[in-house]
Formats: sequence, C-alpha cells, structure tokens
Amino acid sequence: MDAKSDLNNWGDPNYVHPWHDFKQEANHFAMASKGSGIYLYDNQGRRHIDGPGGMWCVNLGYGRTEIADAMAEQAKRLPYCSPWYYTNEPAADLAKKIANRTPGDLNNVFFTTCGSTAIDSAIRFVQFYFNFLDQPQKKTIIARDKGYHGSTYLAASVSGKERDKRKLDTISNNITFLSDVNPNLRDKSETIEEWCEKKINELESRILEIGAENIAAFVAEPILASGGVIIPPNGYHKKTKQICEKYNILYISDEVVTGFGRLGHWFASEAVFDVVPDIITCAKGLTSGYIPMGAAIISNKLMKDLQNTNYEEIIFSNGFTYSGHPVSAAAGLKVIEIMEKENILEHVRKVTPHFQDRLKRIEEKFDIVKEARGIGLIGCLEGNIGNAKTEESKLKKDYDFGYLIDKEAEKRGLIIRPIINMCVFSPALNITTEEINILFDILEDSLKAIKKSL
Ligand code: PLP
Repeated sequence: MDAKSDLNNWGDPNYVHPWHDFKQEANHFAMASKGSGIYLYDNQGRRHIDGPGGMWCVNLGYGRTEIADAMAEQAKRLPYCSPWYYTNEPAADLAKKIANRTPGDLNNVFFTTCGSTAIDSAIRFVQFYFNFLDQPQKKTIIARDKGYHGSTYLAASVSGKERDKRKLDTISNNITFLSDVNPNLRDKSETIEEWCEKKINELESRILEIGAENIAAFVAEPILASGGVIIPPNGYHKKTKQICEKYNILYISDEVVTGFGRLGHWFASEAVFDVVPDIITCAKGLTSGYIPMGAAIISNKLMKDLQNTNYEEIIFSNGFTYSGHPVSAAAGLKVIEIMEKENILEHVRKVTPHFQDRLKRIEEKFDIVKEARGIGLIGCLEGNIGNAKTEESKLKKDYDFGYLIDKEAEKRGLIIRPIINMCVFSPALNITTEEINILFDILEDSLKAIKKSL
C-alpha cells in the first residue's frame, strides 16, 4: 500500500523504531492517537482492542486520568531529584510498597529505567556480590534458549532468541544457554514428567561441566513470554531453584511480564510457581506502561552477606540518572492504589478460566492452529497452515500465520502481536468477560477467513 495515499498508514521518515528494517525508507505504522480502556484509536478515529496491552504493559488500560494526574502533580511539585544526593517521597514509599508485596525477604528495591536495565542491574549486582564474597571466578550466567530479557548489551546477551541476534554482537563469554524448555518439543513417546526431568538434568549437567564454583546465577522468566509464551512443565521452577540452591547459584526471576498482576498476583514466582528467588526484576506493569520504570529487587540475605564481609566500603557503583524518578514512582504508587481499590488481582483470577477456556476452544475448533496456549491473561496461538508438499514450503507457510492473523484481526478491530508463526495477546487486566468474548470472537472470525483463503 502506498503510504502517501493512506494517512492511517503513516510514513515515518525520522523516527527509527525498535526492530527497524533499514531496507525500508520509512516505517509505515498506523498512528495511534488516543486510548480508552482496552481500546486504542488511530488518527482516523478507528477503534481497535489493544490485544497485547501495549507491550504487555498497559495493565490498567488507557485513559486512567488518576495516573496521569498523579504524575502531573508530582511533576509540578518535584519533577526530578538526583538519586545520588536525595531520596524522594514517592520513590521511598513505592520501594516500601513493593517490598511488602514481594515473596520471602526480597525487600531491597533498586529502581531502574526499564526491564533491560533491571536485568543489567541484577546481573551486575550478582557479579559485584561474588567479587565482594571473594569468589570472583563465579561469573557464568545460565540463561535459556527462547528467553528474552531486553535490548541492552548485557540483557540481549542473556536472551536466547537467536532471530533477534542475527547481525547484532552480544557477549558470549561467561554466558551459557540451556535448550528450549517448551514441552511440545518432546518426543511423542516422552511424558511431560520425563521432559521436565530431562531439562533439570541438563541444568545440573551444565553446572557440573562448567563447575559450580564458576557459575554466578541462573536467569529465567517464569514463562518465556516473547519467546512464544512457553510454559515450562509443572515442577520445573521448583526443581531448578533447588538445583541452584544445591550449588550456591543465585536465582534471578525475570518478572518484567508476569509481575504486577498478569497471572493474578503481584509476583508469580512464589504465588504461582512456588519459588522464592534471590532477585526479582520487574518493569512494565509497575507503572502500567504510563511512564518508564523498572526495578531489581534483592533479598535481605544477599545484602546481609555483603554486610558481613570484612570490606570497609561496599559501594554498588551502578545507577541511572533516572533511578527512582519521582514522577515514575508517583505513577507506580497510583497503580498499586488502583489495583487494590479495584481488586484487580482478584478480577484476573476470576476471569482467567473463561479467557483460557475460550483460548483452548480455538485449538479444538481450528486445524490451522497447532496449539493455543496461555496462562493468566496471556494467550498465544501457534499456526499450522503448512499443508504444502515440501518441508521448506511448509515452514514458509507456517511463518505466514503471524502475518495473516495480524492482517485479518486488524481488519476486524483487534491488534495482536505476531511473532513468526504465532500471535500473542495480553490485554489490560481489567478486561471484562464481555470484552474477552469480543476479543475471541474476532480471533475466531479471523481464523475462519484465513482458513477460507488457504
Ligand atoms: N524481560 C522480559 C521478560 C521482557 O519481556 C522484556 C521486554 O519485553 C524485558 C525484560 C525488557 O524490558 P524493556 O523493554 O522495558 O527494557
């Protein structure tokens, strides 16, 4: 389509977007102009359900004037103060409120600017920790294939989505990847329990191979979100944590997506997966996407270990101009207040069975869907349209699925996030049952249209 002939398809010559294709002269995106509830409006007034909830972040939906007002009031009173010289009320208060909602003794909140810098800070803290504990050789980070932890050099280096790395350099030294944990990849003869055992054994073998004395931490999203909503088998999290404990390896749970209500709890690590990590990272839902902010939350135990060393000074010389930004913190406080006032966590737990039921029904109804999987208010459809003769063309067709469902859903008023042969959606947490039905009705109509066109 010619961008010039369609205002809605905005030619964007100066704004370089994430994942920009430099072969294109300009990006051609729809121009978002406002939002309300679960809906986004473009500059022509067309309304779409925002399926991915921004980028898994607009958890309370659009048009929350309370959040905007809290930010404006804070900006008028005190828009900034250096975290090196001052504390500020909203950041101090938010840190306390977060600490009250984390599992175990994770009470120490290091504010960052986003999810990537939260992961960077967590890993830098782990290196710092072992350096001060006089175990400087404990450096290796164990990460996982299909994991996604961000776009800064370090966060990208521990991410395991090969496609994202194509021509971008990453650090390979001191980082090791475990294989994809997706239970669907197992042999037909293998049970889920056997698959789980295999993955746990892989972790332990890798530790023995590298030597526990050389390994600092294991970093894992509770579910591998951007990697295609991969949900590890039952018991996997607990067993990986036990192995980490056995070998004195720290466990970093990346809750950038799952934190702040996506699975019906403030944090999913313990409430859903029965694991108390050493460090949790979060961002996105922390401010409902209204303004950037992230955090690495560190356990009391790790802080105590550092305090008990013989060093006189233990300065963590890592930080950002905008660490603990008062305006972001004011947004975070308002998000917590709204979530409690409106019982958002209970609401998510209440509507999740219906959301997941409608999702599962898609798999039963449509043979062009290989799998419909999800958890909490996250859904993913994996396509199966490759009825072509050769493996190569089958693969190509499968890859078309993301593109086709994106196109058909968009026509019908729903934005989803296509990822290769999948599409992902994670709407605002206050979505009603009626709105869930609209979302899934559109998905089903879109799938019918795709099926017809094949
Ligand atoms: N960790 C996870 C699990 C994520 O999904 C993301 C982003 O999608 C990040 C970290 C990076 O967050 P950000 O884009 O805010 O830097």
